Amino acid sequence: MHNAAYSWAKPALVSKPQLIAYSQNVAELLGISAVELTSDEFAEIFTGNKILAGMQHFAMCYGGHQFGHWAGQLGDGRAINLGEVVTNNHGLKTVQLKGAGRTPYSRSADGLSVLRSSIREFLCSEAMFHLGVPTTRALSLCLTGEQVNRDMFYDGHPKLELGAVVCRVSSSFLRFGSFQLPAARKDVSLLKQLVDYSISTDFPSLLSDNAGVFNSKLYLSWFAEVSERTCSLIVHWLRIGFVHGVMNTDNMSIIGETIDYGPYGWIDNFDIHWTPNTTDAQGKRYCFGAQAEIGQWNLFQLANAIFPLINDAEALNALLNEYADNYQQQWLLMMTKKLGFTQYQGDKDQQLFTDLEGLLSAVETDMTVFYRQLAKLEIKKERLQEQDWLPILDPCIYDLEELTDTFKVQWSLWFSRYIVRCQLDDNSAEARIVLMNSTNPKFVLRNYLAQQAIEAAEQGDYGEIAILQKILQCPYDEQSEYQEYAQKRPEWARNKAGCSALSCSS
Ligand code: AMP
Ligand code: MG
Repeated sequence: MHNAAYSWAKPALVSKPQLIAYSQNVAELLGISAVELTSDEFAEIFTGNKILAGMQHFAMCYGGHQFGHWAGQLGDGRAINLGEVVTNNHGLKTVQLKGAGRTPYSRSADGLSVLRSSIREFLCSEAMFHLGVPTTRALSLCLTGEQVNRDMFYDGHPKLELGAVVCRVSSSFLRFGSFQLPAARKDVSLLKQLVDYSISTDFPSLLSDNAGVFNSKLYLSWFAEVSERTCSLIVHWLRIGFVHGVMNTDNMSIIGETIDYGPYGWIDNFDIHWTPNTTDAQGKRYCFGAQAEIGQWNLFQLANAIFPLINDAEALNALLNEYADNYQQQWLLMMTKKLGFTQYQGDKDQQLFTDLEGLLSAVETDMTVFYRQLAKLEIKKERLQEQDWLPILDPCIYDLEELTDTFKVQWSLWFSRYIVRCQLDDNSAEARIVLMNSTNPKFVLRNYLAQQAIEAAEQGDYGEIAILQKILQCPYDEQSEYQEYAQKRPEWARNKAGCSALSCSS
């Protein structure tokens, strides 16, 4: 759609709206009462059946680079904004339905979403919020009563699945690709309008710092801020073991939130080369350990797009280089906290971190369980014995037979160095544990847990969604009654579809 930042689009009517999960927290944010939440009207509104007075429904126009290649105009093919809500303390929030029917950007696709991917988006975006990671939110998850045809494994065996709509909420759904598209079309006037809009609505302090003047200096500071947010977002992902899976530039939020939960995944055994996305199984472009570099690649594309507003390649390049330095620093600080230290103490610490990652990868070790277990290690002055550290490691190792004597020696040395380093730190034993347990979550939405909730929901049982939602509201708390949700992935889930890798079909 040339010259357009968006197009009016109306949600499709659906036959049987049914609310199956909602976020109380997001409802409160939007000023929706408990009575309204559970009314029949709620499901009508948030599947798109009922349009309220004052709603302005439209689909946003954007393009993007997919897997490194410019793909032209992409969307939004199945997300329809209903409008904005003025919240009490959190500014304007845009309310958007995902899977509510075709838009002018749908191309040949149906504009719909299926239950399984909608559950994944609903649960994960709320989990991310409670983990302290910037993210779009999810108000509700509704069944539509429609059947949707999907070829889940891309193997020529499509089947009918349950249709669903997630209501997403964010201050902005603008993506890097929103700016790339007008730039690619040489529509500098629309590009400028869009950047000015983004700055005015979501970065107002940058504008006031620049005396309210829109000029290249302001655009540079906006790019610097986007770059900073992107960097810190990715460091959060690495902290908690999250792999986005499709970091195409159309899936990069301009305000630095995690957006578009598709074939994402959580690291079980620590493996920087792991990607949950079957489409990416060969190239591993978006694997866990590549995310920071891809963030920079995506920022480079954004820099190219906004170049006509800045005309200063050197300044943009300097900011891109700064991203790399900033990332290195933030990663070190993040690891410092994960290990429970008050301050980064230089190269020796960095060596301790990288040696740890080497060990975690050498023998399949569960990342999430490991960091919680490490907090339990007693920091004592005497010589460390195997019985001090082996019970720490035991619940994290996938196959204990792989933990040969050679690896045991290496682990023993690492734990000894760790203890010496802890003793050098200002942190008390208690403060160390508090720091570690507020940095390292106990509960994450492991792929197999999401899959279990999906399989139950497809049979009409939404209990597991509710349990996961509850647990993931307090991911750093012990919640010992839910211990089984905090264990390493069970063996049956190792290669099961949905539990290990996923396709983009959604
Ligand atoms: P993704 O790789 O999932 O971010 O998808 C890329 C683009 O494809 C999205 O921005 C959507 O506009 C579009 N898309 C994906 N699925 C559908 C669908 N079922 N109907 C219409 N458009 C879709
Ligand atoms: Mg997308």
